[in-house]
Amino acid sequence: MDTQKLTIVVPAYNEEEVLTSSIQKLLSIEDKIAAQNIMGQRADILIVDDGSVDHTWEIIEKLHHSNSRIRGLRFSRNFGHQSALIAGMKEAVKSADMIVTIDADLQDDPEKIAEMVDKYAEGADIVYGVRNNRESDSWFKRTTAQGYYKTLKMLGVELIPNHADFRLMSKRAVETFLDYPERNVFIRGLIPKLGYKTEEVDYKRTPRMAGESKYPLKKMLAFAWDGITSLTIAPVRLILILGTLACLLAVGMVAYAVVTKLLGMTVHGWSSLMVSLWFIGGVQMVSLGVIGEYIGKLTTEVKRRPRYTVQTILE
Ligand code: UDP
Ligand code: MG
Repeated sequence: MDTQKLTIVVPAYNEEEVLTSSIQKLLSIEDKIAAQNIMGQRADILIVDDGSVDHTWEIIEKLHHSNSRIRGLRFSRNFGHQSALIAGMKEAVKSADMIVTIDADLQDDPEKIAEMVDKYAEGADIVYGVRNNRESDSWFKRTTAQGYYKTLKMLGVELIPNHADFRLMSKRAVETFLDYPERNVFIRGLIPKLGYKTEEVDYKRTPRMAGESKYPLKKMLAFAWDGITSLTIAPVRLILILGTLACLLAVGMVAYAVVTKLLGMTVHGWSSLMVSLWFIGGVQMVSLGVIGEYIGKLTTEVKRRPRYTVQTILE
């Protein structure tokens, strides 16, 4: 069988506490997979430093000098997890036949990479890592995430439930993905659009070994909102429906006012007037905000600025 090359892409933002041990672990996993000789692999690791301000880059340099299988790519500043993943895939696809993406904290079970490679060997182009257990995440994170994915589904976005960015992709799947030119990317929402044969691998998500989450609430909300607005225009449609309903309601109100007037009943409508005034005003402002968001997104897409800037590559 041809030898196939596996590259594991690891985005890292201020991960000095976990990076060394995570990379050792990934190296040993790659060795194990190579020993099983599923695809006669060669394997390496590409770490993408997303503008860390701690010692992450120094650690990457040290790892690279001690082992030529470890490569590094450094952004000129923090561009975000999704950009780091894209940059990693773009660099890796130059030489790899299959690419696995996994977070630097190894909360997603790296032992499952062997199973992913098995499924690839059996012909899958995309193998999703699916969490069958999120007990290690806080109650808040679990419920908000679940509600969020349900909402997305209602809005017509196809997502793999309980899958984040732990996945294996074949060279051609990555190349197809990289053809999507948009700047606002929510990777896990785009991958199901690629087609190809897909498979899933179950795993249990574990707590972070050290350090803290690099996704504080504010970043998570921004990410969630990007997911919705980059994948569907349903919110704008919802505004249209809401507006139509408000108009119908207004027509009803007019009829009601006319009838009561004719019947000679005085309308003391101060409170109802105030309520509807504030309500309609609120709906209008929210609607304008949502529409504004889409126009804002259009503006960024039109500018076609680079998604990220690579400052240094260690290869
Ligand atoms: N990360 C990144 N850029 C960022 C934030 C996070 O590259 O701006 C990386 C981070 O180093 C990690 C992965 O994205 O490898 C997921 O982050 P984290 O584990 O902190 O998120 P959580 O698991 O808490 O959702
Ligand atoms: Mg994590």
